[in-house]
Amino acid sequence: MIEKDIPGFPGLVLAFSGIEHGPMPKANGTSPKKLANRDGFVSSLGFDAGRICQAKLVHGDEVAFVSDPEKIIEADAVITNSVGQPLVAAAADCPMIFLWAHSSEWAVSLIHSGWRGTLKNVGPKAVDFFSWRYVVKRDQINALVGPGIRGCCFEVRNDENGLRNFVHWPSFIAVRNRRYFVDLAGIITEQLHRAGIHNVLDCKECTHCSPKGYFSFRKHNNSFRNLAVAGFKES
Ligand SMILES: [Zn+2]
Repeated sequence: MIEKDIPGFPGLVLAFSGIEHGPMPKANGTSPKKLANRDGFVSSLGFDAGRICQAKLVHGDEVAFVSDPEKIIEADAVITNSVGQPLVAAAADCPMIFLWAHSSEWAVSLIHSGWRGTLKNVGPKAVDFFSWRYVVKRDQINALVGPGIRGCCFEVRNDENGLRNFVHWPSFIAVRNRRYFVDLAGIITEQLHRAGIHNVLDCKECTHCSPKGYFSFRKHNNSFRNLAVAGFKES
């Protein structure tokens, strides 16, 4: 998924790599090949790979602002208003949320909202920080739910590690052949609506079954990841 020509937001890039771009590193310090894949993908989008700031994901709800070039930042939501600053994070099946707005300045955010983070409300928390820091009204913030495992494929077991976590979201659980499936993107969209964002887009792509080909932890049973990228390019 590569979104580059978003009306009213010149220079904005929201992207999610696929198998064709190669496996991506979880954070710096892993294989040179994966780092090269990451730098190559980010460069191909028009950013300086030397300015990459990669979020080290911990399935939490920490929100961090990126103002100076920082190579790695431990947080599941990162936000910047620096033009030319690419924010990146690697994910296999967990949905990523992109936020962007323009009030007095440009601002963009990348949020890792896997099932644990979603239950911790990481999306709405990032919206709170975003709205406060950049003095932007919530109805002026735009959101996109990126690729991730969808209700078609995200099966959970009927136990305390699975279905019981979603007891407050019954309308996003489907039962098929006595198997339980959770619509995580649906929950995320509802959370963002409740947080006051009107414009929530959904790419509707499932990392598990999309014909475009994404790395999927559940499908491939390996540690290969895709790369989410968000930022405003320098003009
Ligand atoms: Zn699917």
